[in-house]
Amino acid sequence: YVKEKGKNNYQLFTAEMQKNFYRKMMIEKQLRVALDQNEFELYYQPIIDLKTNEIIAMESLLRWNNEILGQVTPDEFISVAEETGIIIPIGQWVLRMAIQQNIIWLNEGYKPLKTSINVSVRQLLDPMFVDNVKNAIESSGVDASNIVLEITESIAMYADSTIEKLMALKKLGVTLSMDDFGTGYSSLSYLNKYPLDSLKIDKSFVIGMNQDHENTAIVKTIIAIAKQLELRVIAEGVEGQEEASYLNEMGCDYGQGYYYSRPLPASEFEEKWLASDK
Ligand code: C2E
Ligand code: MG
Ligand code: MG
Ligand code: MG
Repeated sequence: YVKEKGKNNYQLFTAEMQKNFYRKMMIEKQLRVALDQNEFELYYQPIIDLKTNEIIAMESLLRWNNEILGQVTPDEFISVAEETGIIIPIGQWVLRMAIQQNIIWLNEGYKPLKTSINVSVRQLLDPMFVDNVKNAIESSGVDASNIVLEITESIAMYADSTIEKLMALKKLGVTLSMDDFGTGYSSLSYLNKYPLDSLKIDKSFVIGMNQDHENTAIVKTIIAIAKQLELRVIAEGVEGQEEASYLNEMGCDYGQGYYYSRPLPASEFEEKWLASDK
């Protein structure tokens, strides 16, 4: 009986593994044609000043609708894109599109807003990355300070080479933000070495705040670190009004989350977040 059960479990496990392997293979295969097939779209989520409740920026978030796989979430495809290096051309597309959209809205007469762009460590390690950013900024004429590059703590693994690149990016005038702060490598020593402008508190801490004193303590501590280092601090994952006002009381500058808005396609974002502002 035991043997049989063990055997069944084993079969179940391999079937599951096979399914995952096949899915990942399909994602990899389809990612290779996704750019040419024009399957990517950028969605936008507002970043709100917790004091004034006004929008100050938007984060661009990549969406992929594949002809065979349908909608695939970034949590599933970004890691595959990173492993295969396909993130390099995809990231280049994101950079151009996000900058272009920033300018379109500016030219339409809306107030200047910053656009946040997620950058994988794999992109930052690409020798062409800084030049690509420089070209994208110069050829578009965008105000560099309105472009925010969001990087993650994993760059700390490559300390020396990345510091120089961040310095070069900073020289171009872009704004640098540390995304998902608190979830990655625990060494804080890089924080004052990197030319950062802001920290984003990872959504897992913010979402957990209500039920859990430890999460609240972590959020408070990150806000205190940011203040000490004179960095702006943004809370991700703000899902309710209570969290928003509590974060404001704690001294957090900005909030982003479903309470304000889900990420939206550009046209809906414009209608909902920009049009009233004209
Ligand atoms: P991220 O940069 O930390 O982006 C925030 C994620 O949290 C987004 O997930 C957003 O939809 C989600 N979110 C926002 N507010 C809430 C909330 O109130 N509650 C909850 N539960 N979630 C919220 P999304 O769009 O699925 O993206 C996931 C991750 O994929 C991003 O995390 C980022 O690391 C990566 N990513 C997305 N777009 C790009 C891109 O263009 N380039 C690169 N390299 N990575 C990207
Ligand atoms: Mg981000
Ligand atoms: Mg994040
Ligand atoms: Mg993330």
